[in-house]
Amino acid sequence: MTIGWCFDNTYSRLPDPFKEEINPVPVKNPEIVILNKTLSKELDLDFSNLNEKKISELFSGNSLPAGSNSIAQAYAGHQFGHFTMLGDGRAVLIGEHLSKKKERYDIQFKGSGKTSFSRNGDGRAALGPMLREYIISEAMYNLNIPTTRSLAVVKTGEEVIRETPLQGAILTRVALSHLRVGTFQYIAAREKKNELEILLNYIIKRHYPNIQNSKNQALDLLKVVLEKQIDLVVNWMRVGFIHGVMNTDNMSISGETIDYGPCAFMDTYDPKTVFSSIDQMGRYAYCNQPVITKWNLSRFAECLIPLIDKNQKKSIELATEVINSFENKYEEKWLNMMRDKLGLFGAEDKDKFLILDLLTWMHQKKLDYTNTFCHLMDFETEKKENFKDNIFLEWKKRWQDRLKVNNNTPEKYMKLMRSVNPLVIPRNRKIEEVLNDANNNNIKPFKEFLEILKNPYSEQKNIKDFQIPSTSNEKYQTFCGT
Ligand code: AMP
Ligand code: MG
Repeated sequence: MTIGWCFDNTYSRLPDPFKEEINPVPVKNPEIVILNKTLSKELDLDFSNLNEKKISELFSGNSLPAGSNSIAQAYAGHQFGHFTMLGDGRAVLIGEHLSKKKERYDIQFKGSGKTSFSRNGDGRAALGPMLREYIISEAMYNLNIPTTRSLAVVKTGEEVIRETPLQGAILTRVALSHLRVGTFQYIAAREKKNELEILLNYIIKRHYPNIQNSKNQALDLLKVVLEKQIDLVVNWMRVGFIHGVMNTDNMSISGETIDYGPCAFMDTYDPKTVFSSIDQMGRYAYCNQPVITKWNLSRFAECLIPLIDKNQKKSIELATEVINSFENKYEEKWLNMMRDKLGLFGAEDKDKFLILDLLTWMHQKKLDYTNTFCHLMDFETEKKENFKDNIFLEWKKRWQDRLKVNNNTPEKYMKLMRSVNPLVIPRNRKIEEVLNDANNNNIKPFKEFLEILKNPYSEQKNIKDFQIPSTSNEKYQTFCGT
């Protein structure tokens, strides 16, 4: 039995400026920590005939599969607002794998050693952050949010030096592609229109073939990416996810959540929540995520200007019109998402007030975002006293009146609410706990948590402990430079 790799590496066939050919740097003593069997199946890959040693060799990049062709991708990006030339400094794309249904997936090793884009970095990654990406990306997938996925983590048997020496690791990331807003920025900065055209054609063929025959492909690409990104950020807002480092190099053209660094889920509802230690100004705070999405899309639009119209002025006008449609579209999608969270059918004028009043109350009372919606679905995860407050009871009356509208029934609204309000999320305190165990060679709690996160919308036994929020948001900090 073979593994089933079916590589067709279209990106590596693009001209030189797009990438650099480079192999992963071999590691000393690879040891598999976790392999995602469910995802393997979805990819039509079967590793069951490989022993642990062979699996470790494979996912460390020490032994590359036939048909792969390793490259580091070139890209640029606005990091906290500042433009920089970047590229895969610690990752290689080993190739594009086709499933039996001919679905195309990038297979990338993250933490695979230096490339010419490494700048001052060591090209490596530590075990904790790679397992963190693994568990949060898989949780996002199960929350029905577009995301890259995680196929495996191996320990390298080498140390990486951060503030202290840490165990080195490599994550295998699976994505629809790793094309970013930053990929466009890199090519646009080179000011060669033919290269931009190559990239535009490539992306449309790969991700948006439905606009292949459109009269203005560049403008239509901007429109579809804008829609995708609005859908994505609305999903993040729905579950209280804070990406933490929404630089333009971390915004995927396919609309997947990508690059899980200092991300975390909000416990107490506070729109200004920031976890990342380097985000001093709160640029990427929970409530700023839509604003930043629009800002990033504007940077994307700038790259497309030469392709939209021969007349630059006209081109800017057309792109601006699309970018300016952001607010209304976002507001509508956000409102509908919040209506779903409250089980409301149809759209009534007063819905926005009903929603905002609940959020304001939650904020003032410092209540947990996820658990408040659990309470509305009759799952008691919080102290009951929290919901005896008069303001809340008055609000609840308004909500219950609104629930009666549009032929709604308890069965209908409960079903709707249960489909969008998770009962469990990857809470910070639990994540820290299981990563700490994993760092001490005990991967069992990590795997148990992963199992629970597979069914975030279902009632499960023994999840009480996973529903307890951290004591205080302020105390929790996440770190970049991982
Ligand atoms: P990120 O913050 O993970 O999105 O990374 C931003 C840029 O820094 C990308 O070009 C990464 O490849 C690069 N980078 C991050 N960590 C390292 C590292 N340890 N060694 C080399 N490059 C890195
Ligand atoms: Mg990145």
